[in-house]
Amino acid sequence: MTTSDRVQFIVGDITALEVDAVVTAANESLIGGGGVDGAVHAAAGPGLFEECRSIGLCPEGEARLTGGYLLPAKHIIHTVGPVYEDGSFGEANVLRSAYESSLRLAEENAIRSIAFPCIATGTYGFPNAAACEIAVDTVTKWLECHEYPELIVFCCFEEPDISLYRERLSNAGQAL
Ligand code: ADP
Repeated sequence: MTTSDRVQFIVGDITALEVDAVVTAANESLIGGGGVDGAVHAAAGPGLFEECRSIGLCPEGEARLTGGYLLPAKHIIHTVGPVYEDGSFGEANVLRSAYESSLRLAEENAIRSIAFPCIATGTYGFPNAAACEIAVDTVTKWLECHEYPELIVFCCFEEPDISLYRERLSNAGQAL
């Protein structure tokens, strides 16, 4: 399988995906909030909240693994993106690290399929086009030298991410 066969793009609600792991864009406390993380906690149920509370804080750029509880996904990877100020506070490196930490956890746990939301582009305010570029480039580089995860899904929820990912992945020759 080529690297491009291992990347997919879909539009929709990440909580409905039947993959080994869904990634959520958490905050450092891991105990839920709004956006995608609120949706993941609401759909997974109170067991997730309890497990997250037992983990404690997750610093930005890092990731933690929990069960999937009531989600169709077996696992949830919680990662914390950067709060975007003006780009001069290392935000791009933190975002890259959030993707890499999630991929590393997936590899360590032999997770075959993983779905990412557009981390940090909601409440955290990271500009969509720059975030899309970092997401696609980081994942593509990872796939070139790692067997796991076998399949990576970018799950876009709203414009402008839908058109940005569609364009960037099709330019890279990736099947949609
Ligand atoms: P952050 O705080 O990291 O910016 P947000 O949850 O506010 O995280 O937004 C991250 C992205 O998640 C946004 O593109 C938002 O549209 C998207 N999103 C919100 N709900 C869902 C969902 N149910 N499934 C997939 N993506 C979602």
